[in-house]
Amino acid sequence: MPRPVQYNSKVKFEGIPEGYMGEGFMATNLEKVISLARKNSIWPLPFATSCCGIEFMATMASHYDIARFGSERVGFSPRQCDLLMVMGTIAKKMGPVLKQVYTQMAEPRWVIAVGACASSGGIFDSYSVLQGIDQVIPVDVYVPGCAPRPEAILDGLMRIQDLVNKEGLRRRHSEQYKELMNSYGIN
Ligand code: SF4
Repeated sequence: MPRPVQYNSKVKFEGIPEGYMGEGFMATNLEKVISLARKNSIWPLPFATSCCGIEFMATMASHYDIARFGSERVGFSPRQCDLLMVMGTIAKKMGPVLKQVYTQMAEPRWVIAVGACASSGGIFDSYSVLQGIDQVIPVDVYVPGCAPRPEAILDGLMRIQDLVNKEGLRRRHSEQYKELMNSYGIN
């Protein structure tokens, strides 16, 4: 006698995209399917320079488990990642390096500034520290805190998932996007 399958009512399944469904088939549009796949398989590149990086390590570990969001595949080659996570104090000397890493990432790419230092320079209002990474590259989501807790980093990742899910496939070819890149001197 097979045992009945028991589902945990607290587990939320990813919704299927809107479309037309019948017996044995489903039709939807390509954009929705691609967004769904992208959203649930974001590969982060951690650019960690100081204490916020430790919070990210906790976010990766079993208790917070970033794998629940399909993002456990962390990469250190910009060419294979689509989410740049900048964590820590970025000195002005590091600015061009950060920009180079960003430009080596393939489109579509997204950026999170994790913590006060990456977002605004934090407590280091000094001649040597970049007062926010958005001075050198465009940022999609800012995570506040010094340091932000792992829950806040996960929340930032979920905000990125929302953006990825809603982003149209043609956005990266739009004039507004080209203007944004040009404003950072990126072609
Ligand atoms: S925001 Fe705070 S915890 Fe994060 S790198 Fe800066 S000083 Fe460290």
